Amino acid sequence: MENNWLKRDKDFVWHPFTQMKTAAEPLVVVKAKDALLYTENNVSYIDANSSWWVNVHGHGNAHISAAVYEQMKQLDHVIFAGVTHPQAIQLAERMCKLLKEPFEKVFFSDNGSTAIEVALKMVFQYWHNLHQPKKRIVAMEGAYHGDTFGAMAVGQRGVFNEPFEHFFFDVDFISFPDNSQNEQNALNQAELVFKTGDCAALIIEPLVQGSAGMRIYSAAFLEKLFVLAKKHNVLIIADEIMTGWGRTGKMFAINAIETHPDIICLSKGLTGGTLPLGLTVTTNEIFEAFLDDSVQKALLHGHSYTGNPVVCAAANASLDLFEQQEVWSNIERISSKHDSFKDALVQFNHVVNVQQLGTIIRFELKQSENTSYFSSIRDKAYNYFIEKQCLIRPLGNVLFLNPPYCITNEQLEYLYETILDFIASIKD
Ligand SMILES: *Cc1c(COP(=O)(O)O)cnc(C)c1O
Repeated sequence: MENNWLKRDKDFVWHPFTQMKTAAEPLVVVKAKDALLYTENNVSYIDANSSWWVNVHGHGNAHISAAVYEQMKQLDHVIFAGVTHPQAIQLAERMCKLLKEPFEKVFFSDNGSTAIEVALKMVFQYWHNLHQPKKRIVAMEGAYHGDTFGAMAVGQRGVFNEPFEHFFFDVDFISFPDNSQNEQNALNQAELVFKTGDCAALIIEPLVQGSAGMRIYSAAFLEKLFVLAKKHNVLIIADEIMTGWGRTGKMFAINAIETHPDIICLSKGLTGGTLPLGLTVTTNEIFEAFLDDSVQKALLHGHSYTGNPVVCAAANASLDLFEQQEVWSNIERISSKHDSFKDALVQFNHVVNVQQLGTIIRFELKQSENTSYFSSIRDKAYNYFIEKQCLIRPLGNVLFLNPPYCITNEQLEYLYETILDFIASIKD
């Protein structure tokens, strides 16, 4: 290729989550439309995981692109302290309407991790401002809340954050509620910490733990945990960064339960997966604890690009699309096709823990004794799918689909077929 992108990439680019010494050549993508990504020589790949789970409406959406273009011409960027603008105001207003009572205040930042940092600073400072400082946070085993320091601290400890672990604040992890025994354990563990009176907040990915392998747990458990936190006056942070925007079949995962959290973090599909934006949405009750005649009680946090008008325009345009029936029929269509695909998956005895919720379907490839073979299963699967023109990025031995909602039935069926072929191909 005359542009020589791969050589130039190798010379100059440091990729995320990548061991640059051993990594395979990246795919050079030069354009995208709907559920398809295209390389330089016009080979197309199905974007089965919505480009790191963000691209909910598919690529090149005309309504979002037009809104972004118009906004870029009108007002590209402006400082967001001491200044406001219509796109941010409308977005905040629409988000509060969408999330309903008691959500009445929106804080802007730049991505999922920063939305989490803001939420953590909010809860710690909330208690500080009330002169009841609290230090502990309860999170769930396997949690992922982002890669900045606070977000890392409340996530599963392991290879991803080991070099930094000694800097993290104390977090109590409760069991993952994958059966009734563990549900009870998790509630007991949470209550022990809640009862100390030193717990500032519970932080949780509602219904689905994303990075842990799209692990799904029950709404009934989530409700019980929220009720327990409320009972002990512990604030609840719902990390809807991945679960929001129809992924679980409803607009937000918390729509499956009655009890509401105190803070909701949003990003990923917020702009339809076109531009980075984070929101931390909360109640007037939290907000009012920051009001005072002195600046000390204020939330002294911000980023240069906070509330960027172009990014807000993309989010507003994405919300327009969610107001149309088409998105919701697509979500239904994908959910029901996934549901039928489950039947085909459970036939294989080296396929375990098949789960589906809304537009997410996931399963695990059983680890055999022969670990050297299976430890490479992730790469083997990834390469197999690339060869078949599907971009499916497994999490370890977990394979999952969370496609853009505009994916066609033909494309979905092709993904299913390719997955079944792959599973059959690795059968001893
Ligand atoms: C992706 C993700 C984050 C972090 O968002 P970034 O924009 O990647 O920083 C946090 N929480 C959950 C549940 C996520 O899936």
